[in-house]
Amino acid sequence: EFSRRKISEKHDKVFVTGCLQPDTTQPRANAAFVVLARNKELDGVIQSMKSIERHFNRWYNYPYVFLNDGDFNETFKETVKNYTSASVEFGKVGPDMWGYPDWIDPKVAKEGINKQGDNAIMYGGMESYHFMCRFYSGFFYKHELLAKYEWYWRLEPEISYFCDITYDPFLKMIEHNKTYGFTIAVKELRETVPNIFRYASAYMRLKGLKSKGLWEMFVEPQPEKDTSKPKDLPEEVFRSEPARLPDIDPEAMEGEKYNMCHFWSNFEIARLDFFRSQEYEDFFQMMDRSGGFWMERWGDAPIHSLAAGALLSPKDIHYFRDFGYRHTTIQHCPANAPARQLPREPWLEKTTLDERKRIDEDKYWEEIDEPKENGVGCRCR
Ligand code: GDP
Ligand code: MN
Repeated sequence: EFSRRKISEKHDKVFVTGCLQPDTTQPRANAAFVVLARNKELDGVIQSMKSIERHFNRWYNYPYVFLNDGDFNETFKETVKNYTSASVEFGKVGPDMWGYPDWIDPKVAKEGINKQGDNAIMYGGMESYHFMCRFYSGFFYKHELLAKYEWYWRLEPEISYFCDITYDPFLKMIEHNKTYGFTIAVKELRETVPNIFRYASAYMRLKGLKSKGLWEMFVEPQPEKDTSKPKDLPEEVFRSEPARLPDIDPEAMEGEKYNMCHFWSNFEIARLDFFRSQEYEDFFQMMDRSGGFWMERWGDAPIHSLAAGALLSPKDIHYFRDFGYRHTTIQHCPANAPARQLPREPWLEKTTLDERKRIDEDKYWEEIDEPKENGVGCRCR
């Protein structure tokens, strides 16, 4: 709530209200969809591609970059190419970007991961999930297939878009001088990131950074002001090779607490040079060297979000409130989407989410009529 109000009202407005006739003649931005996936996720990948193609890319034809820590098989590659007329590239993520770095003892990391599994921390016991989170936190933008691009739009298997996007969000972000775009902000599971904020906060102090107005989005409002003198952080925070998180005196956080808010990074449209900056690299290095990707289960979502909080200002952020977007159980529904309108269509009441998705697909994909809805989003269905 705070985030939406904070970002939307003063510093950021919807780029386009309602529908446009998509302009397919203007030059594209230097951008691509980025999809990290495994061969076994082919069906989910197709679902996502059908959705983004139908609602956006059939007009705009942005290329896709598929990445995988393993090798994509021929079935995956051939099938995926059938679902878009845009160009598609497939890349491998090497051990320099995936798995354990050489400065950590894999046995210690593995123990940490197993312990999280025992404690039933969501995905905490899954080694590959930790690899994925670290890859998306500190490496994807360095992949050679992304080197030629300035912008990316992250896509995941099994997501769906349900409003037409009849303008080019990359060009709009360029025009409005935006760096990072999101459509959902939610609260993180506290137990996955117990120490993340201490390190992010320590990064701010260490670099002498002052909030540009976005940091507050991630800070729990304090009932009373803590006037005690801040203590210096212990040395261990900055040492180069810890295998586990040092105990930082809570006072070192100057009374600030993480409110668990983060941009949900399975959707992201952003400038790659934000991640490629020295400031982001320093941030990632410090977070990484704490061991938090192993001893805790830090997600790339809170990492990207806290980096944005430390380095960007509200005007650099765009809230895509007009994008109807769903990933598993969480969705963002623009004000004029059918699900938000009363009375609801009877079939929406009766059907389950899965059935609804299927009905959506069957009912509308072949329908190529002109966009004609008014409201925040365009023709949401
Ligand atoms: P969730 O959205 O947090 O439930 O996590 P997902 O399982 O959807 O993973 C996030 C993204 O990383 C998706 O695009 C997955 O396809 C991808 N991903 C997760 N783990 C792996 C992995 O081990 N290898 C590869 N190649 N991709 C992965
Ligand atoms: Mn997912």
